[in-house]
Amino acid sequence: MEAKPRRHPLFPGNEIEKRDLETPPVFSGIQTDQGLFCPGPVNVSNEVKEALLHPDIGHREVEFTSLLKRIRQKLSSVFGVHNFLKYTSVVINGSGSAANEAVLSSIGRNTRVLVLSNGEFGERLIELSEYYQDNVFTLELNWGESFKPGDIEKALDKYKPDLVAMVHHETSTGMLNPISLVGKLCRTRKVQLFVDTVSSLAAETVDVEKNHITYCTSSSNKAIASVCGLSFVCGRVSAFESLRDVRRQTRYLDLYRHYKYESDLNQTPNTPSLTVYFALETALNQILQDGLPARMAKIERKARLLRSEMAKMGLEAIIPEKQMSRVLTTLRLPDHISYDYLRDALKKRGFVIYGGKGPLENKVFQVANIGEIDDQSIRKFVMALRESLAQA
Ligand SMILES: *Cc1c(COP(=O)(O)O)cnc(C)c1O
Repeated sequence: MEAKPRRHPLFPGNEIEKRDLETPPVFSGIQTDQGLFCPGPVNVSNEVKEALLHPDIGHREVEFTSLLKRIRQKLSSVFGVHNFLKYTSVVINGSGSAANEAVLSSIGRNTRVLVLSNGEFGERLIELSEYYQDNVFTLELNWGESFKPGDIEKALDKYKPDLVAMVHHETSTGMLNPISLVGKLCRTRKVQLFVDTVSSLAAETVDVEKNHITYCTSSSNKAIASVCGLSFVCGRVSAFESLRDVRRQTRYLDLYRHYKYESDLNQTPNTPSLTVYFALETALNQILQDGLPARMAKIERKARLLRSEMAKMGLEAIIPEKQMSRVLTTLRLPDHISYDYLRDALKKRGFVIYGGKGPLENKVFQVANIGEIDDQSIRKFVMALRESLAQA
């Protein structure tokens, strides 16, 4: 008997066709990877893709325990840890924001937090801290404005925070913020430092130990070049331990709980998404095989190549080159060109870029150079960009 088409439960009247139920599913005609020149998700290597097809394992078994243990050691090393007794890493299922929320929701309501903000992700830290702390102070600059050392010192002396929160690479503008300076200021004042390195880890020097960072967060799908789904907190063991008696405000993202499970058992409190752990280990192996300095130099060379080609097209960056990270370039949209036009024109040619948010909406576009991008795809991208601009 011929099966009748079923009615879609949410959209009565829309029938699910038999071909919609075929395995593997029909991916809206996409046959090849899009060229991802956006700051995450990024194109991943074939090795990372293959790791996603790892045979099934149980998460309470020794195979996962040893996998998580290796991942945590390798991650710590990428964060710049040398003393593995003093610093450790915790892996949390979720995108980068999960790690940020785990930190701020777990340090206690009474912690006085000073947030340094000069862009979208700084603003998100303010918003997040306002959920979980009663005393939130800010040094808030315009997007793309750089922090002056004197102003940071003044804010520290005025608000006397217990913890400073800041973004290392402010992805919304491409600006690199001075973590080593803030680290020094916090060290002399005995203030804790929380740094969001979601878009900089493995592309810029983070060095948690040297920079006196208490908690440092990142995620799997930016310069680490794995797939989305895992976030990390690397931090001082004594700081994680001190969370034990703090009244926590979330259960799922309770950082102490995650720390305790991982450091005692190399287990996660809840069911981990196993496949993304296999992919992450593969990506970390590739970084550590290259060596961090070589990996950073590779990313830097791609940034230079793209920047020099884009400058030849008359495109103008919104901040001076010496303030930029090597992760991405934020360029002014030429007067007569809208972001939607440029995005669509590049998309037709197989490439994905990123737009401006907030005050930069429809004023800028972003071109990132992290993930699996080779010189040939950069050349093709440059050609596509030149054509798209010329035909506007
Ligand atoms: C991408 C990013 C995040 C996290 O965003 P998710 O959408 O949760 O992945 C946080 N901070 C910075 C600086 C980022 O670039």
